[in-house]
Formats: sequence, structure tokens, C-alpha cells
Amino acid sequence: MEQSQRTEINTLGEFGLIERLAQKVTHYHPETVKGIADDAAVMAIGDQWLVTSTDFLLEGVHFDLTYMPLKHLGYKAVAVNISDIAAMNAVPKQITVSIALSNRFSLEAVEELYEGIRFACQNYKVDLVGGDTTSSRTGLVISITALGLTNAQEITYRSTAQKGDILCCTGDLGAAYLGLQVLEREKQTYLANPNMQPELTGKDYLVGRQLKPEARMDIIYELQTMGLKPTAMIDISDGLASEVLHLCKQSQLGAVVYEDKLPIEQVAYDTAINDFNIVPTVCALNGGEDYELLFTIRQEDYEKIKLHADITTVGYMTEKEKGAKLATRGESLVPLEAQGWNHFST
Ligand code: ADP
Ligand code: MG
Repeated sequence: MEQSQRTEINTLGEFGLIERLAQKVTHYHPETVKGIADDAAVMAIGDQWLVTSTDFLLEGVHFDLTYMPLKHLGYKAVAVNISDIAAMNAVPKQITVSIALSNRFSLEAVEELYEGIRFACQNYKVDLVGGDTTSSRTGLVISITALGLTNAQEITYRSTAQKGDILCCTGDLGAAYLGLQVLEREKQTYLANPNMQPELTGKDYLVGRQLKPEARMDIIYELQTMGLKPTAMIDISDGLASEVLHLCKQSQLGAVVYEDKLPIEQVAYDTAINDFNIVPTVCALNGGEDYELLFTIRQEDYEKIKLHADITTVGYMTEKEKGAKLATRGESLVPLEAQGWNHFST
């Protein structure tokens, strides 16, 4: 008897799977400007371009309610979607919120979640316009869809970087990952001995980066005021390495990232080494959940950002054949590898 073929999804990985599914997708409408491939899909509505992005957050996969307050979770669920709208250089306008709940959750708990969602709506000036509510047997599930507006002149894709462009990143990297490590450590200590109080002294910044990330709309508005349009942009959700590789792949280029330019806060650096014995560079490259922006600019625009306190130039784009490389402190060039979150690996 003929055996039907079975391919394990972890042989493809998340991105391999998406690519595979995308190959067989057909578009029927000329208004669909961009489908699967970027931080958000793009639809032309006359002169306005509508961008939309959606994300899942699952209890036990993306968050742990032992240390994630529901209010923060609500805020974060919105922020991570707004971050994808920011990455398209668009202005967020509306969100829809879908939740699946088990009977473990009370009205008060859901209201707390929504308090965080409303706070984020106020902060990012977006309207909550709908969603869906259902039951769940596996804990809390949140899915948010964000909609934003831009136009043909302003939109930024992952695929339009040019050779020689400078790679810039906002904020600092690796802290959210280290915040998660600190929270996990304290959870384990608590589980071993419930009388122990969590020891978070001096780690507020790291924990804050994990529990309450911000989408960098402030940078989007600043760049617009400066009259600086990135040549390509992506948000950093899976770690800098993974995002640089996305830019390279989609723009058909290579890149060099300088290890000594990676923006890592002192507390992140110290915690990586002293508390977890991990290399700070690895946290910055592969940590994930920073929700900063990675973008490329033309060399002639360098003057505009060179003194900006919250934008760091981390490298530049090269030709495809050179691949994506990390220039280490030891001055060797090593391949940049993505080890971002892969939910299929466990
Ligand atoms: P991001 O990290 O910016 O949220 P993802 O890596 O999740 O982006 O997704 C990359 C692209 O793949 C996006 O265009 C997204 O809309 C699309 N995508 C992800 N999962 C699916 C799916 N199951 N079916 C169709 N498109 C998908
Ligand atoms: Mg994204």
C-alpha cells in the first residue's frame, strides 16, 4: 500500500512554512498591492494605501500569566501589532481584538486585559472597532489586527534596500530577552519555594522591556518631520539577525553588521554575562521581542541621523553574493544566523 507523505513542520521552520503556503496563493484584485511577505499587507484605496497586520498571542507560548499582568498583556498585544504598521511607515488607525477564554477567566480579569488595550489605543491613537469572542480549552488566546494608512510615496517595504545603504536600528537590543530570562528565573525560584520573594532589584529596565514594549511610532513621526524616508524597513520582533536576513533576502542583497556597534544597554550587558553567562551579542542578535525598527537609509541621508540619540548605525548593505555577515570585535567576518523564536522547534 502506498504511504502518504508526511513532512514535519519543524523541517521547514516558521518562515519556510509561510513561504510554502504563499507560493500557491493567487490575488484576484488589482487593489492588492502587497500580500504575504512584509510586516503588513498593502491595499490601494484610491490615493490612500491601507496596511494591515495580524498577530496571535497564546498563553503558554507567548506569555505566562504567572508574571505577565493582564493589563500589560493587553498593552503589549496592541503594541506588537502597531509595530508592524510602523514598519510600513504607516499611521495606525484602527484595531480589532479577538479573544478566546477558558472559564479560568472572570469578568474582572477580562476587564483588566481591556484596560491595557484601551490604554494602548489612547497612546497610539487607534480606534478599537471590533473583534470576536469565543471559548478556549487551552487558556487565553489574543489575536489583534491593526489597520493603518499610508500612500505610494511613503510606504516602506523590506524589499527595496539598495547596495551601499546604511543599516540603522532604533533603541537598544537584547533587553526584552534578558527581562524574560530574569522573570523565568524568579518564577522557578518561586515554584521551588513559594515563600521566596522575586528578586528584581536593578532589573526594572529589562523586565519593563519584556512586559511593556512600545511600538516606535515616535521614530516614524520624527523621520517624517525630518523628511527622511528609509529605503527599506522592518520591525525587530525576532532578533536583529533574523530581520537583517529578511531585508537581505527580500532586497536580494548582503549586509555587514558590526558587533561593536550593536546598541546594548549596560544593564543588559552586565546581566547577560553575570547572571546568565551568555554573550550579550547573542542576546542582541537573537533575543527577540525588542520591537525596535531596523531600516536602511541612503548614504547621503547619514547626516540627518548621525547625532540622533535613539538611532544607531549598525552596518550597511552589500551585494547578495557577499551574504549577511557579522563583523566581530576580533575583526573576522562570520555568517549572520537567525535563531529567532521558532515555535515549531519544541
Ligand atoms: P511579522 O514577524 O512582521 O509579524 P511574520 O513573520 O509573522 O511577520 O509574517 C511574515 C509574512 O507572512 C506576513 O506577510 C504575514 O502576513 C504572512 N503570514 C504569516 N502567517 C501566515 C499564514 N498562516 N497564512 C498567510 N500568510 C501568513
Ligand atoms: Mg514585523
